[in-house]
Amino acid sequence: MDALALTKSDWEILMLEWGLPKYRASQILEWLFQKRIRDWEEMKNLPATLRHTLSEKFPVNRLVSIRESGSRDTTRKFLFRLSDGQLIESVLIPASPALYGEASDRLTICVSSQVGCAYGCKFCASGLEGWKRNLTAGEILDQVLQVEALSGEKINNIVFMGMGEPMANYDNLIRAIGILNAPWGIGIGARHMTVSTSGLVPRIRDLAAQPLQVRMAISFHGATDEVRNIIMPVNSKYPVEELLSACEDYVRIKKQRITFEYILIRDINDSLEQAHLLARQSRRVGAKVNLIPYNTVEGLPWERSNEEQQEAFLDILRRAGTDATLRREKGHDIAAACGQLRLQVEKSFAAAHVMH
Ligand code: SAH
Ligand code: SF4
Repeated sequence: MDALALTKSDWEILMLEWGLPKYRASQILEWLFQKRIRDWEEMKNLPATLRHTLSEKFPVNRLVSIRESGSRDTTRKFLFRLSDGQLIESVLIPASPALYGEASDRLTICVSSQVGCAYGCKFCASGLEGWKRNLTAGEILDQVLQVEALSGEKINNIVFMGMGEPMANYDNLIRAIGILNAPWGIGIGARHMTVSTSGLVPRIRDLAAQPLQVRMAISFHGATDEVRNIIMPVNSKYPVEELLSACEDYVRIKKQRITFEYILIRDINDSLEQAHLLARQSRRVGAKVNLIPYNTVEGLPWERSNEEQQEAFLDILRRAGTDATLRREKGHDIAAACGQLRLQVEKSFAAAHVMH
């Protein structure tokens, strides 16, 4: 396992096994998460023998930054190479009020949880080439460390909305969240972390049962099974009614509001009838609705709804008393379209391959 993915108690047990005092655990964690030093030899307050053992047991395994796009004031994307050559991306989003309201000193990172995605939603770039593998908890955490190092900024909000279905990598997700949250780790409040899911009902129930107050966003995208079945294959396993009932339970157990994300795809899910149904469903769950104009993906036939339709859809929700927002800023679209940069790069790699 990656050293980043060990908890304080994991380190303490290890120190005990190695016949070392417990405070060594705190020293190691301080180097990793406060001083942000990964190279064991640099950890000068540890005995040389311990440094040596650590370098043997836990070879340093950083994400390698291979491309960056965007500018300082807007959304910035980071493409990383993993140790086995796979590519993932993370996105840094300055104050995202349309998404999460509130104050604007917020700096959000959108992290990936898997390489590719097995869920194959018809509109999504991440699922296009199928699922390759889960990210380890260390790889999830390292996205935060690397993006902070590359940008020189302190991240205070995390959304699991990058590539992959975080709930399908549940154990690593929970381990990473625990370390992101821990005072000896990265120290980000649980309420500043949002897990987005296409609707894995049993995992929604698991997330409700675990102690941390993480937020949940549901990729809803269709108010009826008829519509949702067309674009989200996961719906045949966990249909709308089951999903809504798991959401109700989450809200009841956590005493927390959740968000329904709803991308507006022209003529697919943007009828006013869907809007009326969505209004009723979101009121039932007490969910906020976040409407997102669809971002076109190369190779896919879908288009975003036109602006009048977006406004009419929003209007219906608002009139019905739903707390709904429509994300208009173009810069932020990029965040909801994680997976696309990787796709572009892989395509250009493939093209270069063919040419040679
Ligand atoms: N697998 C999880 C999290 C990653 S996707 C999930 O599905 O929730 C993060 C969000 O981006 C989801 O709401 C997803 O539906 C949305 N999304 C995917 N492709 C998009 C696109 N081309 N335009 C706009 N939003 C998109
Ligand atoms: Fe996977 Fe989420 Fe994309 Fe669906 S929307 S294919 S679950 S990443």
